[in-house]
Amino acid sequence: MRSVKTIRDAGIVARPNDVVVVGAGIVGLCCGLALQERGLSVTLIDRGEPRGQASFGNAGVISPGSILPLAGPSVWRNFGRYIGGHEAAVRLRWSALAASMPWAIGFLRASNEGSQLRSATALAPFTAAGPSAHIALADRFGLRQYYRYGGWLKLYRDRAAFDAGKRERALLADHGIKAAALSAAELTDLEPSLDARFTHALWITDALSVDSPGALLERLFESFAAGGGTIRIGVADQIIQEDDQVVVKVGGEGFDGRFGVLAPGAWAKHLLQPLGYRLPLAVERGYHRHIDWRADTRLQRPIHDAGGAYVIAPMGDGVRVTTGVELALIDDPPDFRQLESAVAEARRTLPLGDDVPESTWLGCRPSTPDGLPVIGFAPRHDRIVFAFGHGHIGFATGPITGTIVADLISRRPAPVPIEAFSPDRF
Ligand SMILES: Cc1cc2nc3c(=O)[nH]c(=O)nc-3n(C[C@H](O)[C@H](O)[C@H](O)COP(=O)(O)OP(=O)(O)OC[C@H]3O[C@@H](n4cnc5c(N)ncnc54)[C@H](O)[C@@H]3O)c2cc1C
Repeated sequence: MRSVKTIRDAGIVARPNDVVVVGAGIVGLCCGLALQERGLSVTLIDRGEPRGQASFGNAGVISPGSILPLAGPSVWRNFGRYIGGHEAAVRLRWSALAASMPWAIGFLRASNEGSQLRSATALAPFTAAGPSAHIALADRFGLRQYYRYGGWLKLYRDRAAFDAGKRERALLADHGIKAAALSAAELTDLEPSLDARFTHALWITDALSVDSPGALLERLFESFAAGGGTIRIGVADQIIQEDDQVVVKVGGEGFDGRFGVLAPGAWAKHLLQPLGYRLPLAVERGYHRHIDWRADTRLQRPIHDAGGAYVIAPMGDGVRVTTGVELALIDDPPDFRQLESAVAEARRTLPLGDDVPESTWLGCRPSTPDGLPVIGFAPRHDRIVFAFGHGHIGFATGPITGTIVADLISRRPAPVPIEAFSPDRF
């Protein structure tokens, strides 16, 4: 095995690697940490723009109950609203739809009860492992202070909306996920600052949440470096598998390992095409903004207003309002209308202070048609592992993905079933 050259930006002279990981969002970073825990030497390669990562700007919810993929029977009921641009949860850009045709076809094919049920069944053990895998990581590095333990709430504005969630509640019960239906009065007892317009709520009691996903990521990054990990800031532009090694090229520089892990989030398509893979991936963009607390306002846990399609997540220094989906290309210019309407709705839900200047953010969820991640060895490269496509649940499931990837590379059985996540399924 060739040894790696000097790592310019980090000022570190690297050892020969066991594994090279591309992407240091929550998924890649957790892969690196889990591999390190097995005693393997790891190089992490990342473009080095933390604010550009979905892992930085998400709502920080870690819920065992996030098992229903977006593709489901309701897509057909709401189709007219999507097309007309009247649905707050999903905005479409036609150019992106045209460029993501294989994804769109797969998504529509998966939009039925049977497929949604199959995805939910495949996701349940994975999301169930999310909270404990986070806590294990937090305990390993002394990071418990970033976590909240009060679950999370889905809010409904009328009985009809609550009744429409009956199937979801039944599925959660089938999978043993603890959820309590709350009346308006019970909701007020739990979260007194919320507006009285919500008639019902669903409380996923075992969910965790994080006060600052970006700060947590920074601490994990530092832990990876402190554990002897090598970090290279740069764009990986070529991946080559030779007989017994994988070489990742960053400009003219090569980084080699016995294995490569691709965890590039929404940028997966760019890396996969030169390797000869055309997976039906798309980008579900989302926005956030921070708003100051008002002195008399409290919120103990994140909330999702099903009618307004936004999340309000309490963060250390204010709240973060996040939006639903904008189906767009990764580099399309931002369109802040979805965010503005989410913020206006959020202000009706909770008395809030001023917008935090320059806190508006846009990020990209890496999306697959069936809402399942892609985790497994590349079909035609036995030294490259794929770990991307985590859509709406990547922050919650990053740590368990890390464990799975480390198990795959160490030839151990995965801690949860992963057959449904195989790259071969497309
Ligand atoms: C508004 C919003 C709210 C969300 N809320 C939640 C939530 O509450 N809970 C939850 O679980 N999930 C949530 N998500 C989803 C979650 O954020 C993502 O699923 C997750 O962050 C994906 O992590 P990742 O590591 O795969 O990707 P990323 O965090 O995007 O990281 C990928 C990294 O790879 C790097 N990279 C890509 N290509 C290359 C290359 N060629 N060379 C070098 N580096 C490269 C990128 O620079 C980036 O740093 C939300 C997402 C959004 C947008």
